[in-house]
Amino acid sequence: MQADIVVLPGDGIGPEITACAVRVLQQIAQKFGHEFRFQTHLIGGAAIDASGEALPAVTLDACRGADAVLLGAVGGPKWSDPKAPVRPEQGLLAIRQALGLYANLRPVSTHPAVLDRAPIKAELLQGVDMIVVRELTGGIYFGKRSRTADHATDECAYSRSEIERVVRRAFRLAQARRGYLVSVDKANVLDTSRLWREVTTRIGAEEFPDVRLEHQLVDSMAMHLIARPREYDVIVTENMFGDILTDEASLLAGSLGLLPSASLGEGRIGLYEPIHGSAPDIAGRGIANPYATILSAALLLRHSLGLEAEAAAIEKAVSDALYAGCFTGDIAVKGQTALNTEQAAEAVLARLV
Ligand code: NAD
Repeated sequence: MQADIVVLPGDGIGPEITACAVRVLQQIAQKFGHEFRFQTHLIGGAAIDASGEALPAVTLDACRGADAVLLGAVGGPKWSDPKAPVRPEQGLLAIRQALGLYANLRPVSTHPAVLDRAPIKAELLQGVDMIVVRELTGGIYFGKRSRTADHATDECAYSRSEIERVVRRAFRLAQARRGYLVSVDKANVLDTSRLWREVTTRIGAEEFPDVRLEHQLVDSMAMHLIARPREYDVIVTENMFGDILTDEASLLAGSLGLLPSASLGEGRIGLYEPIHGSAPDIAGRGIANPYATILSAALLLRHSLGLEAEAAAIEKAVSDALYAGCFTGDIAVKGQTALNTEQAAEAVLARLV
């Protein structure tokens, strides 16, 4: 297969970790007989420095013409003045919107070799394997807003079709996994949530009778995620609830450095990135954990290119590296030697079969 992949390293540790993921993709291409063509472009703070814009037109055009986009992270203290006219995160919001990426998938699983790194009892974490699907382009973050000196409003709006498309995607995922979907809302208070629940219930009954659907209120879901995380398979929710719950769920894995994400729309193109930020505190030192970005490359192969065996090969290689104790500083414990970024990437490359 031939595929065009745009790489957006971004800021901070972004260039260090995307370089590792590209090496892994190159090795996959070689092993499985594919041709992946890579183009690198600017986004975020690096783009602001070069052009004054967080998402230059040349970057967006390249992404529109690609099969998939692999992103590092954006932002850092240099661009964090709240009064600045352009901020790095605007590049991220703009690219998600421009590419119509309305579904953010965050798989969260725990690895036996690092169970004790999470601030939650290891016995609760054994076997956790879920995907949280967050609606990404609607809701309160994109609603009308107003502000006077003493009053402010943020409107949360959802249309039936915005709910349908993301919920269908979550049902399809659940169907291909353990057949269990939990939809999270606040239907006891919010009208958007009542519409969400109505749409989800109808789609479940009409199109996915084989998937067990449950509704949870977001406040109780916040507790259940920590108290019994093993029970969940696929969770779907609106933008702001998803923003909060996915950060909470990320605690289960023991390090931000292990968790990938995929942002998908209707077509083949998707944006793949680690869930962590640009880690300016360790940027440029070559010690960042590249596994989340390498695992994001696996999601890219699965969801944009339909290469399941190749995706699974990467995931197994990362898992095997963890079993072998190949840990970067964020997951190494006292007395263990921590690998640097390059050594961790080598550990994965050596196990890619
Ligand atoms: P962060 O995720 O960058 O860092 C939080 C902590 O985790 C830091 O101590 C960092 O060193 C560590 N960490 C993160 N990724 C790591 C990795 N791969 N390996 C080892 N350690 C890792 O969050 P933050 O400090 O709140 O934000 C820093 C910058 O990143 C900010 O400008 C923020 O806006 C931006 N950010 C960007 C994204 C994105 O691009 N999607 C997401 C979150 C934050």
